[in-house]
Amino acid sequence: MLNLSNFSSFFVANWKLNGNMAFINDYFDALNTKSQNCVVVCPPSIYIDKIKKNQKNIFAGAQDVSKFISGAFTGELSAEMLNDMDVKFCLVGHSERRQNFNETNDNIKLKIGNLINNNIIPILCIGESLEEKQNNKTTEVLTKQIKEGIPKISNNENTIIAYEPIWAIGTGLTPTINEIDQIHIKIKKIDDSLNNYKILYGGSVKSSNSKAINEIDSVDGCLIGGASLKIEEFNNIIS
Ligand code: PEP
Repeated sequence: MLNLSNFSSFFVANWKLNGNMAFINDYFDALNTKSQNCVVVCPPSIYIDKIKKNQKNIFAGAQDVSKFISGAFTGELSAEMLNDMDVKFCLVGHSERRQNFNETNDNIKLKIGNLINNNIIPILCIGESLEEKQNNKTTEVLTKQIKEGIPKISNNENTIIAYEPIWAIGTGLTPTINEIDQIHIKIKKIDDSLNNYKILYGGSVKSSNSKAINEIDSVDGCLIGGASLKIEEFNNIIS
């Protein structure tokens, strides 16, 4: 497993259901990874090998993993298989999976355990909907997602949390700098054990706001969706 303390910041590109061979070739021709930060690209899983073979200084990540270890589960990919492909990070519990694929906290807990057991660092995505925010339920929602989703085996050396307000994903909206800071501080206080976890922010990060977000003390990096598909934007964000 990678030593997270070797890096000061983490930039994780979530390509979702986007990209193809030609896109990947152009992307890696243009990608500029001279920074000392940890840069992770999570393509659709079928392209992980292609990402891994590029000559740039990045890590391959997956967007999801099976909660099962092996067996008759058509279409699934296990944590062991991802480890075989030298995957170092895996998103778990992204809001799109919670909303569109009935991802539950119980499943998330199993997935995180499987990943850690296979030396892959899970990036647990948590976040509230707009309605939950408007009803002052943010802390309650995040607490439930953390308490029910993080297994005992997790610690600050093997698990990362990404705070991604659902209303900020793909919308161009973001919380204020102060709001992000306050929520990250609150997350660390949900349980004593969370105090030293790396916490990333995700939701409409782009080159024009990434510097200010990354300068927040309680932010250890960013999870980037749409802007990670535009190589100039992504180069600016990670530089
Ligand atoms: C995401 O889906 O994880 C994400 C952060 O998306 P975007 O950057 O497009 O808001």
